[in-house]
Amino acid sequence: MKCTRCKEKAVVALPSHNAGFCPPCYLKFFQRQVEKAIKAQKLFTFDDKILVALSGGKDSLALAKQLKDLGYDITGLHIDLAIPESSPIARGYVERFCTMYDIEMHVLEMDALGLPIPRVKEKIRRPVCSVCGKIKRYYFNKHALDHGFTVLATGHNLDDEAARLFSNVFRWDAAYLGDQGPALPAEKGFARKVKPLFRVSEFETANYCFIAGIDYGFAPCPYSKGASFTFYKTILDELEHKQPGRKISFYEGFLSKGRKAFARQDQDEGVLPTPCSQCSYPTSEDVCGVCRIRQNLGT
Ligand code: SF4
Ligand code: ZN
Repeated sequence: MKCTRCKEKAVVALPSHNAGFCPPCYLKFFQRQVEKAIKAQKLFTFDDKILVALSGGKDSLALAKQLKDLGYDITGLHIDLAIPESSPIARGYVERFCTMYDIEMHVLEMDALGLPIPRVKEKIRRPVCSVCGKIKRYYFNKHALDHGFTVLATGHNLDDEAARLFSNVFRWDAAYLGDQGPALPAEKGFARKVKPLFRVSEFETANYCFIAGIDYGFAPCPYSKGASFTFYKTILDELEHKQPGRKISFYEGFLSKGRKAFARQDQDEGVLPTPCSQCSYPTSEDVCGVCRIRQNLGT
């Protein structure tokens, strides 16, 4: 197969784009997808101060590298969850990456903050991933606001977003559908959140890392068995295999045609958050979820 752009030998075939690319043209293709996402959804500008959530996995590192190459003002934030089997490895990948590409890096240690995930897991009765996700969202948001970042960027890709949409549609969860999209505006107590990789799949991001020479980590979390949306991703992969391009058309169709209806409903039914009595984080109850976990742990 020949590269669609330059006719050299292609190394990556992308049926969903009806195209194939050689390594340099693939990097160009990936960059265009990210630029298109930023422009089409008005995610941010070169004046923004962007905090990038860095887990150490391929998506977050690809995102940081691409934004840095495009000239955006970025800083990385890594949350060290204090899970012995995976956290030191993940942190190592992020540290080496930031040193190599000269990206400023901040680290928040859950151990020092009284919320090491293994202890949280011991104490709670709910699935640990939902609580871990809540803690991470809390600290990413708090760090962005406390340090004057105007945007918080995460490495969610097309597979993540399409699977989340699929799951929300299946339950007709109007509130979640109203909130779904690659950009959530800044609101009182919440930083603006964006997902610039929403046009690229997991496969495309992995290829980008491979071709760009990004050393990303795979240190599976020991609690990841019940990770969200895996089942929906499998179904969507099968659909994509039979009908290339389905995922992006499903997701972009929602953005252009479906989202508005749910956004209205969400506003009508929405409960205005008030500050947590312990930490001031926006919450619909007196004490926010993270402070309640902290109380539970006695920290
Ligand atoms: Fe946290 Fe679950 Fe992810 Fe592990 S798999 S890091 S517990 S969200
Ligand atoms: Zn609180």
